[in-house]
Amino acid sequence: MNVTYSNHSMQYLSADCIIPIEGATAYNSVLAVNDDGTIDGIFDKNELSGSMYEIRHYNGILCPGFVNTHCHLELSGIEGLIPEGKGLDAFVRKLESVRKSASVSNILKAIENAAYKMEQAGIIATADIANGNTSLDFKSKSRHYFHTFVEVFGSDPKYADTIFEKAMDLKKQFETHQPSDTVSITPHATYSLSEKLMMLVAIAGKDSLLSIHHQENDDENLFFEDGSGPLAARRKAFNPDLQKFQGTKKRPLESIAGHFDTFQKLLLVHNTVSGQKDISFAEQYFKNIFWCLCPNANLYIENRLPDIDLFRANGCKITLGTDSLASNHQLSILEEIKTIQNHFPHIPLTELLSWGTINGAKFLGLEHTLGSFAKGKCPGVVLIEKADIQTLKLKPETTSQLIIPAHV
Ligand SMILES: [Zn+2]
Repeated sequence: MNVTYSNHSMQYLSADCIIPIEGATAYNSVLAVNDDGTIDGIFDKNELSGSMYEIRHYNGILCPGFVNTHCHLELSGIEGLIPEGKGLDAFVRKLESVRKSASVSNILKAIENAAYKMEQAGIIATADIANGNTSLDFKSKSRHYFHTFVEVFGSDPKYADTIFEKAMDLKKQFETHQPSDTVSITPHATYSLSEKLMMLVAIAGKDSLLSIHHQENDDENLFFEDGSGPLAARRKAFNPDLQKFQGTKKRPLESIAGHFDTFQKLLLVHNTVSGQKDISFAEQYFKNIFWCLCPNANLYIENRLPDIDLFRANGCKITLGTDSLASNHQLSILEEIKTIQNHFPHIPLTELLSWGTINGAKFLGLEHTLGSFAKGKCPGVVLIEKADIQTLKLKPETTSQLIIPAHV
């Protein structure tokens, strides 16, 4: 047997099934974890039983901690305030009005509560969008790993410099509490920035991570096709003096890609209406691209889901995100996986879990320590209970719980 002896004492956890993400699913096995959370290995139970080791058994599945690649913690206070299924345009307009009505102390409480529950349910690292500094106080106290995306938008080039400087200020505020490589300025969406602002963001973000809302519905495709549709109307409403956008006759990402280096690490978020053309372009142009799915938010807002099999057929790197409590009932990667499994029952649980763990870790550049039970990593341990172990299917009552924290 190959158990390492060290100064740390070791915990031995067994479960009905251990899904290590890298490596084969293990039954009748034991996960050995150092007291500091470092993975030592997965061992055959028969090898260990009868020995001096005390093995703690769990009924369920053990897997590494989840990575949430799309969240807006600062919208936590808006839980339940926006009606479901009305479409993105109605959602954005309603969001603008309700976010102004929330009191700061309620927002702070809601952030703390949402983040606590998110961690309890197994999320150990989060890419979080910030438009302001309301999540700063919580993040400065939290041990959770955050990458903060300071998000900018603004269609009028006149204000590009001002908006960009404000974002730089906000970035500095976050950097007083987070390492600077965990904060980046990011574009809100393909359609909501002037060329000038997009250029400023692309230059500033060249060596960091970027995340962009992408193809959440057909309005975006229409807007770039010929400048028409609900996005044109919203642009006009927010910027009455601005000249009409004529469109590019190209797909949304293709229309803005020229601003970015082909090696830019980029996360496309939602992709609800992305088709083969969009995927082919993105995968050819960008060498380091990730596709974040937020299925529960898609159902909440648009009542539809992306063509997930198309991303799989193209070998895309898929990650999972919860979006915010403005468009979701909880911040839980397990619940996102349940939803995908309900609509795409042929996708194996091990593959879905890899999207919610190692792929997210790769996007954040944390795959050396998070995302799998490889020896030496510190990915956290999640217990999934009340799933069907025989078929590896999640059930409505299936829960997830972080039982050992991660360390980055
Ligand atoms: Zn979002």
